[in-house]
Order: sequence, then C-alpha cells, then structure tokens
Amino acid sequence: MSTQTPILVTGASGFIAIHTIAQLLQKGYAVRGTLRSLAKEAEVREAISRLGQDPASALFVSANLNQDAGWREALENVATVLHIASPFPLDEPEDEDELIKPAVEGTLRVLRFAHEAGVKRVVQVSSNAAVSAGHTAENRTFTEADWSIVENKIGAYSKSKTLAERAAWEFIHGAENKNKMEMVAINPPFVLGPVPNKNYNTSSELIRTLLLGQTPGTARIKMAVVDVRDVATAIISAMEVEEANGKRFLVSAGELWLKEIADLLRAQYAPRGYKIPRLQIPSFVARIVARFDKKVALIINTLDWDYRLSSEQAEQILKWTHRTPQEAVLAMAESLMEQGIL
Ligand code: NDP
Repeated sequence: MSTQTPILVTGASGFIAIHTIAQLLQKGYAVRGTLRSLAKEAEVREAISRLGQDPASALFVSANLNQDAGWREALENVATVLHIASPFPLDEPEDEDELIKPAVEGTLRVLRFAHEAGVKRVVQVSSNAAVSAGHTAENRTFTEADWSIVENKIGAYSKSKTLAERAAWEFIHGAENKNKMEMVAINPPFVLGPVPNKNYNTSSELIRTLLLGQTPGTARIKMAVVDVRDVATAIISAMEVEEANGKRFLVSAGELWLKEIADLLRAQYAPRGYKIPRLQIPSFVARIVARFDKKVALIINTLDWDYRLSSEQAEQILKWTHRTPQEAVLAMAESLMEQGIL
C-alpha cells in the first residue's frame, strides 16, 4: 500500500481516533481526518504530539455525519477509510434517534461517498454492543457469529451500533456496491488505556467515578475491556491484512468484574489518598435502586451476567496481540491524573 495516498479517519477528535492517527503517522501513512468542527483541530494536533508523533503532515477537513457537505472533498484521492465517528454520550438520550440517526445514516453516508470516490476498503469501528447486547441470560463465550438482540432493552447506544453495523454490511453485500468495495468491522468492548487530552470521554467516566469515590460501591457487573492502543493497532491491521476482508473482529483483552477494577485501583492509588469503594452492592439492592435511578436501570439486565468475548479470530487473522485488562485500567487512571482531570 502506498504510504502517500491519505487514509481518511472519521471523527478525528475522538479517544480511539487520536490513538489511531498517532499510530498511522508512526507507520509513515499520510492521514486526513474529519472533524465536525475545525475549531478542534489545534487540540487534536496537540494530543497527537503528546502521544509522541509529529502531526504536521496530517490534514483535517470538516464533515458531519448528519450532512452531505464536506464528504466528497474529504474522500478525494482516498483508498482507505477508517470510519470511527459515532455518537457515544454518557447519558441515555430522550430520543433514541439522536444516536441511531447519525450512527446508521452517517455510516451509510460515509459508505456511499466512499464508494463514489472509488475507495477500496472501509474499516468500520463497531462494538461488542453490536455482538452481545440483549443476550444477558446467556453465560457463555460470544464470537463474531453473534449479534445483539435489538428487540430486548439494550439502550439507545447499543441499538445504534448494532443497526449501523447491520446497515453497513447490507450496503457492502447489496447491489449498490458496484465496485465491490471491501469492509472490515472491528468490535471492541469497553475501551480503556491512556486518554490523550483533557476531554475525557464516556470511556473514562467509570474509572474517574471510582477514583473520586463518587459511588458507594460497585454493582455485580462484568466488563470486557481493551486498551485503546491495542484497538488502534487492530484497526490498522484491519486495513492492511488482505484476508480480513468481509469479516468482523472482536478485540477484547479479557473480562473484569467491577469489583476487581475497584480493588485494582485501590491497591495502586489508596496510598496516594484516593478512596475507592470496597462495597459490592448486592444485586437485589441494585434492582431496587433501578426503580428510581435511570442510569442504574440501564445496567440492571447485565447484573450477575457472566460472559466472555472470544478474540481468537483477531489473534489468528490480524495477528492481534494485546495488553492485559489490568494494564488498560491502570494506564487510564494514570493518564487521568497526568492530564489533571481528577
Ligand atoms: P469519542 O466520544 O471520544 O469519539 C466519538 C467521535 O465521533 C468524536 O470525534 C465525535 O466528534 C464524533 N462524532 C459524534 N457525532 C458525530 C457526528 N454527528 N458527525 C461527525 N462526527 C461525530 O468516543 P470513542 O473514541 O470512544 O469512540 C469512537 C468509536 O468507537 C465510536 O464509533 C464508538 O461507538 C466506538 N466504540 C467505543 C468504545 C469505547 O468504550 N470507547 C467501545 C466500542 C466501540 P466531536 O468531537 O465533534 O463530538
């Protein structure tokens, strides 16, 4: 692959995108990133520098998932698109379409403009939210053959990711894809690891809340996690590895119960004065709280759910290796302190 044809990264201001851009630059790729607002350009360049890469060669252009404007120009002379942009808010929206529309219509918009521009391959950053959500009674290992059940109460975000990935594959396998444009999906679980700037995102909220002792205890919930640096590597391998075409890849470093995350943080940071909760909230208590608290209500179906995500396919085809979940947790905590977010 020529290192001169730019790789288009959508949503260049995001947590995962900034790490991906830094790794692309490190490998000598030319990078073009889309931003909803170019007002964020200076901050994105600064974050890339903080990750040890020179952002001078990267170009940033304006494009919004909800509008056609800017995409044709963004895709000029581009052969590979890393589609990472998608709304990932902290709170459940009043109207689920606030997430579903930009996720689904935005993905189709990017695919249509990419197809028109003669793009060869799109890497779609999906999620385990498109794989295992809504299967909460099934204590088993999930693989890429699984899809989330949108008919169950899975929340607007998981629904948006599931419907967006489904729509993307339908486009790729449909008549509209006359050029046989290729697609690979990367499905990370909860992404931790170092935050590159002060804009902590939804991913860092859990670690921040635990470190600040803003919760009385942890619910009995299992989280599959992965380090952002390993997600970026997987995204780049997905664009480079020929046999990845047409496949989705779960990329999980492993699972931790929330209490294990809290215990890990306490062992490391209690000596620095952080008061991380010890209590594991019994699930029947969490169920009662959920009647009054919308946020707790969202996670109620995942209480006591014991599951695993298999990353075997990524290990075999993408030759993907990863840091431990513990390393991802601690790297995020350390970076939040370094950035002065705590
Ligand atoms: P961030 O919130 O940090 O990044 C989201 C990016 O999407 C931002 O650049 C944001 O731009 C952009 N975006 C949102 N809405 C629009 C829109 N209407 N038009 C254009 N851009 C838009 O999240 P992450 O980096 O964590 O997430 C990136 C991707 O990874 C998402 O697709 C997410 O679903 C997926 N993912 C994330 C996981 C995680 O735990 N972090 C887990 C699994 C998947 P702006 O800065 O302007 O808001």
